[in-house]
Amino acid sequence: MNIHEYQAKELLATFGVPVPRGVAAMSVEEAVAAVDSLPGPLYVVKAQIHAGGRGKGKFKELPPEAKGGVRLARSREEVRAAAADMLGNTLVTIQTGAHGKQVNRLYVTDGVDIAQEYYLALLVDRGSGRIAMVVSTEGGMDIETVAHDTPEKIVTLAIDPATGFMPHHGRAVASALKLTGDLAKQAGTVASKLYDAFVGTDASQIEINPLAVTEGGELLVLDAKVGFDSNALYRHPDLMELRDLTEEDPAEVEASKYDLAFIKLDGNIGCLVNGAGLAMATMDIIALNGAEPANFLDVGGGASKEKVTAAFKLILADPAVKGILVNIFGGIMRCDIIAEGIIAAAKEVNLGVPLVVRLEGTNVELGKQILADSGLPIVSANDLGDAAAKIVAEVKKAA
Ligand code: GDP
Ligand code: MG
Repeated sequence: MNIHEYQAKELLATFGVPVPRGVAAMSVEEAVAAVDSLPGPLYVVKAQIHAGGRGKGKFKELPPEAKGGVRLARSREEVRAAAADMLGNTLVTIQTGAHGKQVNRLYVTDGVDIAQEYYLALLVDRGSGRIAMVVSTEGGMDIETVAHDTPEKIVTLAIDPATGFMPHHGRAVASALKLTGDLAKQAGTVASKLYDAFVGTDASQIEINPLAVTEGGELLVLDAKVGFDSNALYRHPDLMELRDLTEEDPAEVEASKYDLAFIKLDGNIGCLVNGAGLAMATMDIIALNGAEPANFLDVGGGASKEKVTAAFKLILADPAVKGILVNIFGGIMRCDIIAEGIIAAAKEVNLGVPLVVRLEGTNVELGKQILADSGLPIVSANDLGDAAAKIVAEVKKAA
């Protein structure tokens, strides 16, 4: 689960991380009123969406030369104009995809004079099985570009969970940022507090870009992206309240009600699969056959008829879907039960697109027989390769 920048900064501040003052605003009037509680003379009006790259983003409704989703303002009027330009409009950034995201909230912050911008992130490094800090002098830029063009400018340090964050980690961060003296001390403190915040909230990522040195010689978190491990959210009811459902794909929200692991994608072949690994392989083999999957969907091990029906409905709610590939391995589940579930679901949702089913495992022959006897236009496949080729062919035929 991800949260907005203003929520992230308020949360980090409770751990003692230095952030500029700011006020969240849901309307132009609230944005203008925020000016009264900030010192000025510089303000920053920031679009709050769950995506980065806002500064360089473009609004669909504004001319291409208009500024993006992070704007400096020097007066109430400039704050008003920036807020009016952003609220309700759709911001397209390198992280939103072409459809962009509608801006419904703003954050008006105290503007600082930046001397230098750095990058600092914490994440769980699966390789070392530890929390890692990723540090770079190249802040304010797209970190993927830095990693690609100048990987030597990114320093990663893994933190031993047995010791937690130690003073030497702080010195390593300062040294990676080439900071000395008081700024080096500040870097160590900020890194240590970010580590506390990461562990204390069961975060999965905290990305600070930029971590800025101000003209006044102060280290400040100017942008923060924070995500939490969903499996640990039950321990943090207060964090759960920060969830903004309007930022999430409606189909994914619906899927979470049925405990279905569903991710919407851009292709036209819907996939209904049991097991995450098999679901990944199914998407790969669809791509290998020259088409694109419309979704990732893992119905889990004990897929009931209700779950399969909900899954079909989710897939078919996407108008881009031109065919469905069901790929089920009946291990604990029996194929005949699955076949009955598929038929019941297909009847209930009034299936209007080709459906290819590949079943394998316990009672597979019986399962195939049930599908064949159903009278529904279901194409049966023998293996994964066959299934992918058949659904791609069916979709082409229907086009
Ligand atoms: P992002 O584009 O979504 O990553 O949003 P950021 O919050 O990182 O802002 C983008 C850029 O705007 C930063 O890299 C800074 O260069 C600039 N910026 C943000 N806040 C301030 C500020 O308080 N003062 C100044 N001068 N620039 C800022
Ligand atoms: Mg940023």
